[in-house]
Formats: sequence, C-alpha cells, structure tokens
Amino acid sequence: MAVVKVSLMDALREHFGFDSFKGNQEIIIQSILSGKDTFVIMPTGGGKSLCYQLPALMSSGCALIVSPLIALMKNQVDLVRGYSSKDNVAHFLNSTLSKAQIKKVRTDLLTGKTKLLYVAPETLTKQENLDFFRELEISFIAVDEAHCISEWGHDFRPEYRRLKEMIEQINDKLPIIALTATATPKVQSDIVKNLGLNDPNIYISSFNRSNLYYEIRPKRKKDQTIKDIVKYIHQHKGKSGIIYTLNRKTTEELADMLTANNIKAVAYHAGLDPTTRAQRQDMFLHEDVEVIVATIAFGMGIDKPDVRFVIHYNIPKSLENYYQETGRAGRDGLEGNCVCYYSHKDVQKLEHLMRDKPLSEREMGAQLINETVAYAESAVCRRKVILHYFGEKYETEDCGQCDNCRNPKEKIEVKNRVVIVLKA
Ligand code: ADP
Ligand code: MG
Ligand code: ZN
Repeated sequence: MAVVKVSLMDALREHFGFDSFKGNQEIIIQSILSGKDTFVIMPTGGGKSLCYQLPALMSSGCALIVSPLIALMKNQVDLVRGYSSKDNVAHFLNSTLSKAQIKKVRTDLLTGKTKLLYVAPETLTKQENLDFFRELEISFIAVDEAHCISEWGHDFRPEYRRLKEMIEQINDKLPIIALTATATPKVQSDIVKNLGLNDPNIYISSFNRSNLYYEIRPKRKKDQTIKDIVKYIHQHKGKSGIIYTLNRKTTEELADMLTANNIKAVAYHAGLDPTTRAQRQDMFLHEDVEVIVATIAFGMGIDKPDVRFVIHYNIPKSLENYYQETGRAGRDGLEGNCVCYYSHKDVQKLEHLMRDKPLSEREMGAQLINETVAYAESAVCRRKVILHYFGEKYETEDCGQCDNCRNPKEKIEVKNRVVIVLKA
C-alpha cells in the first residue's frame, strides 16, 4: 500500500483538526498503514471511525468500508465530507442509489478522488460490483460493526458471513481492519475466524465510560413512570436524549405523551417506512426534536456526540445491549446519564418474547436476562458489574458516577421482585 509520508499527528490536524489521538488510535492507524490485518475492540464513542478514516485519507486508492445499516451510511459520509472541502472524498454505494447516482460514484472512484467508499454487505454480493472493485486501486477493507458476523453478538447479520469470500474475489491480499464495540470473547473469536484475519494485531481498549452516570429506578404504575420521565426530561431541558422501549406501540404512545407535555419527541421503530425513519433520525440529529423514543432499531453507528441521557423504559434483554445503548450518551466525553426502569413484569415480557424460540436459544436468552436482572438488583457499583461482564476488573471503591456509589444501600428488599430501595 503506497502511503504519503507525513507524520500522523500532522495528518490528524490537517484532515480533522484534532490535536491529539484518543486511546489506541495512533498505534491502530500505524498497524493498518503497515499493511497488517488489524482487529479493533473499542467501546462505543471511543473513536473507531477515525482509525480507518485517517489511513484511508493518507493512502493512495480507495478504502472500502463495510457497514451494516444503509440508514447510517449517509450520516457517516456526511460527517467525512464535513471535515473535507471536497464532496467526492467519500461516497456510499447501496441499493438506495439511482442509476445516475451510481454512475457518478463510479466516475469519482475511477478518477481516484474518492478515498472512502461505504458499502453494505449486499453491495458486495453483486458480481458487477466485485468486477468493478477488482479493477480499482483499493487501499484496504474496513469491516465496521464486525460483531454482526457472530450469532453471539447482539446484532447478527447473515450476509456478514459471506464477506470473506467476497473480499477474496476482489483481492485476497488486501489488509482488513475489523472494528467492534463488542468485547465478549466468543464474538471476538468468531470475527477473527469468519473474516479469516491473518495473524492480526489486536487492540482492546478499556470499556469504562467514566463520564456516564448509571442509575436504576423501580418501575411502578405506568402513569407514575411517565410522570417521572417527563419530570426528568424537564430537568434536562434543551438537551438531547433517547428513550428505549421494548415494542413499537410503546414508542408511539410515549412520544405522544411527551408531546402532550411540551417535550418535542418522535417515535422510531422498524415498522415505519424508510423515508419516515430517515426523516425522524435527521430531526433528532439536527435537534428539531429533543427526544427520540425508539426500539433497538435506532442507534447503531449514529454519531450524535451530545446525547445527554438514555432512558430505558424497559429493561434490555442483555447487559451487552444495555452497554451498547447507553453508550450512545456522552460520546463527546461530557455528561451522559443512563437511567433504566426496572420491574419484574418487564422481565416476564422479555421471557415471553422468547416463547417460540428453540430451546437452546431460550436457554441462552434466559442466561442473558438473568445477568441484566442481577445488574438491576445489585447493590454493588454499577460500573463494576458492567465492566466485570466484559471481563475487565474495576478496582475503584467509589466510582462516584452511579446510584449505588452515590447512595450506598444498606439493604435491598425484593417485593414481588420489584426492587424497593431502602436508603442507608
Ligand atoms: P465509535 O465508532 O467508536 O462509537 P466514533 O468514531 O463515532 O466512535 O467517534 C465518537 C466521537 O469521537 C466522534 O464525535 C468523533 O468525532 C470523536 N473523535 C474521534 N477521535 C477523536 C480525536 N482524536 N479527538 C477528538 N475527537 C475525536
Ligand atoms: Mg462506529
Ligand atoms: Zn459506582
């Protein structure tokens, strides 16, 4: 891979205007530029995109970025273009483009002006695209959200399984960089194996998000909970927040309730048509609304650095999900508040959702749910529990940034499995 020789620091300043690298970014970028397969495990908000964007901008040829969601490609391309004065520096290629748009993208690629091309895995299943890429100078392949390759991840996508064979059709010598925020060892080994990473350099960052405040609130009657949420949002007036709920209907209901209480809110879920979804996502990104009430269909890869709160109206189905979803708060390193409402009824709802699944899946699901329940009912530092889940030791006595550290509990009494917290 031909690389223009300038210091990485200078390149960072020139292309992004940042003064320093975050975490492992510099060493990761060096690894890619040296042509090694590279595996990056970094929490949400850690700055994974820059790890492939900067080397792409510094290399000759174009980097292919595989990204799972069509809806967020535009967001990512817009961000890259925002840092550059040239619109053709980044493009995406997926099923939403017209023939004329595809032609424009191809023309830009052939002139060598395009440094980053975002593609959906489906794009690579089309033979004509593979033939086109084979003739093109490609600098490297980045596989973003690489956990999608694993059934053990929180978002398995079967098309990801075919990536290796498709990449090999383009050029079997291309360096690959895989990136994920999923730290469980099972997912990690699936990624290395399925992408066929060749003796990769592996970089694992700490999963501690020290700026996030974690809190569990007992969930009681519906109107009481909604009142509580309204009050909470009014306390964070003018700030952006996400509310996650378990089902589509509740997103609409809650959004209506908030609107009736003078809070600008929209609902978002997979049942909406793509145009409405894109519109609502944009409304949230551009702050035309304060709150987006969503199912888990919302959020992966969305880069809004100043989300100040993430509320879970229902307990999520795994601690991993909880970590990913709360990870969307405070990506800029500033304040981020994560509140989860917990009731045993919601646990039963989760269990109910699995009723038709095969036994092995139900068992796996039950284990994941039990871990979330343990988290919710624990009197131990929340941060410690979360980091322990990711196999990381957290030794600090008092994190100062969770309800259990701020208000140590003497005793937790579980009544009907709704946690009643008795203050010390
Ligand atoms: P991830 O994909 O790991 O969740 P992103 O790549 O979306 O994270 O980056 C999160 C935020 O951090 C973005 O707003 C990005 O602009 C910012 N960021 C990344 N690297 C740096 C850096 N070196 N200096 C300052 N901000 C950075
Ligand atoms: Mg990302
Ligand atoms: Zn704590």
